[in-house]
Amino acid sequence: MEGDRCLSKEPNIVMGKGRLRVAIDGPAGAGKSTVARTVAKKLGYTYLDTGAMYRALALTAVTRRIPLDDPLLLGEMARSIQMTVRDDNGLFRVWVDGQELTGRLRDPGTDKAVKLLAMHRPVREVLVDIQRSLAKEGGVVMEGRDITSVVLPDAEVKIFLTGDVRERARRRWQELRAKGVKIHWEEVLEELIQRDRKDLEREWGKLVRVPDAHLVDTTGKTQDEVVAEILKLCEEKEIALHNR
Ligand code: C5P
Repeated sequence: MEGDRCLSKEPNIVMGKGRLRVAIDGPAGAGKSTVARTVAKKLGYTYLDTGAMYRALALTAVTRRIPLDDPLLLGEMARSIQMTVRDDNGLFRVWVDGQELTGRLRDPGTDKAVKLLAMHRPVREVLVDIQRSLAKEGGVVMEGRDITSVVLPDAEVKIFLTGDVRERARRRWQELRAKGVKIHWEEVLEELIQRDRKDLEREWGKLVRVPDAHLVDTTGKTQDEVVAEILKLCEEKEIALHNR
């Protein structure tokens, strides 16, 4: 469905038109980004990477020397900045106050900062509001940790994407190496385990599998197989909605 494109009022994003809201949650390194991006492309939907939005705020906080354990200051920062996001043909780009941060969002330093920033309710409330407004016209594939539970609990298609932790760490390590980052595999595994723990245990917006989310386990599957599985669920939902 290659819809007309229109500009939403707030915040700045070029939205694709379409019906379904596809919400994908899962732990780090499960392949959510690649899968969500591909599904969005195939459906002509807009791809929304909410992790990149948390990363952009974390990077901004570090740059502005705002302590990552101060929820009030972080919430104030989140409310005061202008965040602009765009799905640029599968590349999810983020600007903060006019400065593009896209290329720096996956640096190991941001990995460390984001899990601390994401714990705070005032920060999450700001991003959840923005994310809901981005999805309000439908035709989106949004991925993160709390999309099926908090951001879009009434999404038409809900997926919990997971996989073996060692396989997830290997994927993340390969991704970093491809970017020229020199890091040991064990370090990536340890970082991932810590991030999983923080995502599962935090008080607000923690990673949960809601009862009506489809479980998709990526272990031993190719990316094409996972994408096909999700597209099938979308197709079934479209048919069910059509016949209603
Ligand atoms: O998906 P990604 O690994 O880029 O997310 C980075 C971090 O942002 C996660 O480890 C998590 O702490 C946080 N996050 C979140 N809620 C989301 C998306 C990401 O707390 N919806």
